[in-house]
Amino acid sequence: MSQLSIRSQSHNYDVVIETGVRHQLDKWITKPYSSVLIVTDRNVSEHYLQDVVTSMEKVSTVHTALVPSGEASKSMGKYQELLDRCIETSLDRQSLIIALGGGMIGDLAGFVASTYLRGIDFIQMPTTILAHDSSVGGKVAVNHVQGKNLIGSFYSPVQVLYDIETLRTLPETELRSGYGEVMKHAMLSDSAWLEELLGRSITSLEDNQLIGDLEKGIRVKASIVEKDEREQGMRKFLNLGHTLAHAIEAELGYGEITHGEAVSIGLLFALQLSETRVNASGLPIKDYVNWMARNGYPLSSIQSLQPVALLKRMKVDKKTVNQQVHFVLLNEIGKACVVPIQDDVLLTELHRFQT
Ligand code: NAD
Ligand code: ZN
Repeated sequence: MSQLSIRSQSHNYDVVIETGVRHQLDKWITKPYSSVLIVTDRNVSEHYLQDVVTSMEKVSTVHTALVPSGEASKSMGKYQELLDRCIETSLDRQSLIIALGGGMIGDLAGFVASTYLRGIDFIQMPTTILAHDSSVGGKVAVNHVQGKNLIGSFYSPVQVLYDIETLRTLPETELRSGYGEVMKHAMLSDSAWLEELLGRSITSLEDNQLIGDLEKGIRVKASIVEKDEREQGMRKFLNLGHTLAHAIEAELGYGEITHGEAVSIGLLFALQLSETRVNASGLPIKDYVNWMARNGYPLSSIQSLQPVALLKRMKVDKKTVNQQVHFVLLNEIGKACVVPIQDDVLLTELHRFQT
């Protein structure tokens, strides 16, 4: 078991990472709530909703709300439906929303909690590995047809309760997605941990390895966000691997590749750029490529994409400054920097990356 405390601008909250938390919510949730609305998606509900309902019924009146699985549910339409559900079930200021699911549910239910009655408590119960990233840091949002996460707010949960048993039903592609972000956190922080990760296979992890990786990842994210909640400076480092990842996702079409898989490719590109642009040496590029291959990361998907098209996507990324693409690179593992890269250089590097 692991328990850590996170500081946000508004309050401190605990993250508990443990086996079987969903069966003992009455033990972990110590504040009394008049009623609770559990928001989840259909895949997750099939496996875990009943357990959470049963355990919450010991302490509160329980309501549920289901949305279809997938990114399409992170919409204004579903946000509105959930608000309707809050009103229909008479949630009040002493009520709680539980987000039971991956990052999609966390962002959607968190945004509902942040706006209903000007904000009520919510608890994240992440059920994906990727959600170690999304459940801390306080960003909640829904998508607009014009772009991802365009409507949202900063709103932290009152607790994060991570039941690692739920991760056992994740499809392999979601394991890969989650471990893409875990790799990012390792590269931003700690070469010993990175080395450990590179030596393992993500499909045969022991509970204590999973707990350790989630905890370390959350610590990295939290330590950066605690210093820079509103993304004025250091928080940009969390964008490592993401500039190219967003372009790949957009070019391939969302759903063709998971976010974390795209991040894993973006990380490799960032490592390569770090060697050529900031003279980083000793980066474990070869080991990382081997790790990707061993774990089935779709590295070849980049080959069908046009460098010019990727560059165009990167230039409309919201992190672009003065029309110049800014990349998070590594001077060494654990030491990030932000570097502007000229278009022609980027095109050359992308060509080289694809071959
Ligand atoms: P997700 O929530 O869509 O989950 C991925 C898939 O796995 C879904 O089909 C889901 O139904 C299924 N699933 C979830 N848990 C399962 C389980 N235990 N067993 C079997 N299937 C399960 O996606 P995600 O990758 O967790 O999160 C992606 C979302 O997170 C995106 O919307 C992204 O924008 C957001 N995000 C937010 C932040 C933030 O800071 N707020 C950070 C990173 C990502
Ligand atoms: Zn990400």
